[in-house]
Amino acid sequence: MAAPVTLQGIIQDIVDEMRAAPDRGKVATYIPSLAKVDPARFGMAVYTVDGECHAGGDDEVGFSIQSISKVFSLTLALGKAGDQLWERVGREPSGTAFNSIVQLEAERGIPRNPFINAGAIVVTDVNLAGHPPREAIGELVQLVRYLAEDESIAINEEVARSEERTGERNRALAHFMKSYGVLRHAPDLVLGTYFHACAIEMTCRQLAAAGRYLMLDGRHPGGGRTISSIRARRILSLMLTCGHYDASGDIAFRVGIPAKSGVGGGILAIVPGRASIAVWSPGLNANGNSQLGSLALERLAEATGWSLFNPG
Ligand code: GLU
Repeated sequence: MAAPVTLQGIIQDIVDEMRAAPDRGKVATYIPSLAKVDPARFGMAVYTVDGECHAGGDDEVGFSIQSISKVFSLTLALGKAGDQLWERVGREPSGTAFNSIVQLEAERGIPRNPFINAGAIVVTDVNLAGHPPREAIGELVQLVRYLAEDESIAINEEVARSEERTGERNRALAHFMKSYGVLRHAPDLVLGTYFHACAIEMTCRQLAAAGRYLMLDGRHPGGGRTISSIRARRILSLMLTCGHYDASGDIAFRVGIPAKSGVGGGILAIVPGRASIAVWSPGLNANGNSQLGSLALERLAEATGWSLFNPG
């Protein structure tokens, strides 16, 4: 008789398949620190709603969460500015690259959504209100530690400096938005904070733990509420429609689960009421999303039946 299929078994099969995959994509090189990461790495961790964590591969190796930090920055900003945030950033998929500037002129400096770089820079500007940058970034790191219930999570300063040295495109976005009055603070202050947020380092286990509040409709796993249900649901809507830049539609089609990627090769994916998933493989596809991370999520969704569109 065949052994029962367990979640741990499914994860191990995925790890084995991904470790043997011939085409792993290309590690991001435009941030020099990220170019040093070993492309053979692959890790996965899944927290289920019963509090169990199943994991495999390099699930305890730290990586740069990059744009996944945009989920946590948005959570913080919604707590501060509430729905007024939406006067300064939109909620439409961009259909363009993560660092694109083209839509900003037509839309008078208002970014399409909070998960492209321009949008996250505005969100960072909101989080800076009333704080020096050091405090604003401290507040974000504290939030992530609280969500993951792990005080060891920290910023990789080398990655932050590397981004600071090479972030000309983000500088262009910030100055352009400042010219329209969309940014309230000096671009350099906002960017310094933004680069440090992107440079938060986490393992798959820590990232999946930090995503549990979205699996739990805004509740903290330790009890109490992190954000309201409606905000948690809206963040998930944005992850589904905008979480993978110009490949968001393709990921929604292939995986059917809200997810946010980063150029460090990580992806955070949430199955509401069921699972918080983190996957990491540093090689990226042409859209700047983890090549094997996307495939691993597709495999996991197939094997478990998890989908936003599966009522069972
Ligand atoms: N720190 C990266 C940048 O601003 C984030 C991009 C990403 O992860 O997609 O270019």
